[in-house]
Amino acid sequence: MTEIFTGSFTQQEPIPEEAIEAAVEVMRHGRLHRYNVAEGEAGEVALLEEEFAAQMGAPYALAVASGGYALATALRAVGVQPGDTVLTNAFTLAPVPGAIASVGAVPVYVGVTEALTLDLNDLEAQLVVPDHPRVLMLSHMRGHLCDMDRLMALCDAADVTVIEDCAHTMGARWNGVLSGRHGAVGCYSCQTYKHVNSGEGGLLITSDPEIAARAIMLSGSYMLYSRHRVAPTSEVFEQVKYETPNISGRMDNLRAAILRPQLRDLDQQVQRWNERYQQIETGLRDTTGLTVIERPETEDYVGSSIQFLLLDWTVEKIEAVLGRCAARGVELKWFGAPEPVAFTSRYDSWRYADTPAMPASDRILHGIMDMRVPLTFSLEDCAQIARIIRAEVAAVFQAGPA
Ligand SMILES: *Cc1c(COP(=O)(O)O)cnc(C)c1O
Repeated sequence: MTEIFTGSFTQQEPIPEEAIEAAVEVMRHGRLHRYNVAEGEAGEVALLEEEFAAQMGAPYALAVASGGYALATALRAVGVQPGDTVLTNAFTLAPVPGAIASVGAVPVYVGVTEALTLDLNDLEAQLVVPDHPRVLMLSHMRGHLCDMDRLMALCDAADVTVIEDCAHTMGARWNGVLSGRHGAVGCYSCQTYKHVNSGEGGLLITSDPEIAARAIMLSGSYMLYSRHRVAPTSEVFEQVKYETPNISGRMDNLRAAILRPQLRDLDQQVQRWNERYQQIETGLRDTTGLTVIERPETEDYVGSSIQFLLLDWTVEKIEAVLGRCAARGVELKWFGAPEPVAFTSRYDSWRYADTPAMPASDRILHGIMDMRVPLTFSLEDCAQIARIIRAEVAAVFQAGPA
């Protein structure tokens, strides 16, 4: 009998009761705007920022409307101007080059390795050119961290400011250092499919007082910056407040109320994601034709999604695997499809920027299979999913060349 998986790859866990109660509390008093606070009240957004800063070990934090907004704000805050070039990953999600384009800058892509991380040799080669870009927006795409020590050494030596896109690495670490704490700015998304869920939302952290002040001004704080609890001193704001535009993208107290209890649970959730990830990974190991992504010892990842490679497979055979898995309830996403579908576009789909051919990255992108691992899956679900993928990959592989 062939088994069929019946779970949903898009169903996250419900919002915790404590968070629901906190949200209801905000609705009862009606002060949803972050700067609408009663006498002596800090407000949920300011408290969220304070708690997130402490959790990440950062002096400054800002909560905003989305992850993409956090990325664009970070670019503006570090001084990116229209027409500037910004380095970023060829393998990432559309909001990353989108944030670069939103400030009138031009993305310049760096390749992807078989480990699904930024190709540091490619980066090194691009940094040798005299007028190379001065900012790297590094996307830890699908939770894979590159050698952050080498990356920071390369960027520091070339005077390149690093903004980290931690949409898939909230809670992850490289060499013991939290993702988001290596570069000048760390950006996070609180959208439903990420590690905490407020529907929409974003967070930004930094150690740099001027970046923090600019980001707070940019986010739409009017001249209410003194209401922020993890912000630089007023002297820093005095220096930037007349030159920094107000580009409203604030978070509201309702979302912040939902997020605070979730952040307190983050470590436990990370552990649960990793149990599921490891169950699937174990089940996929030693499948002929399928390459498991080996995670380095120095990386503490968050297994909220899993990838594997069908390296050098033909389109027909990959499509056969996708179809056969789908027929058994297993939804795989493919980054190599000739046309971008749903979330899986790639550098050559973003045609607002000129992109040279990247054959080495094309080979990897062509083979990337991706799957979400929602916490609503049980460990047995994960084992079953792995059995199904394994059987279908083997069946197609054995059928010979397409
Ligand atoms: C989701 C995501 C973002 C942007 O987050 P939004 O909150 O959806 O704007 C940025 N980068 C990556 C890799 C993402 O997956």
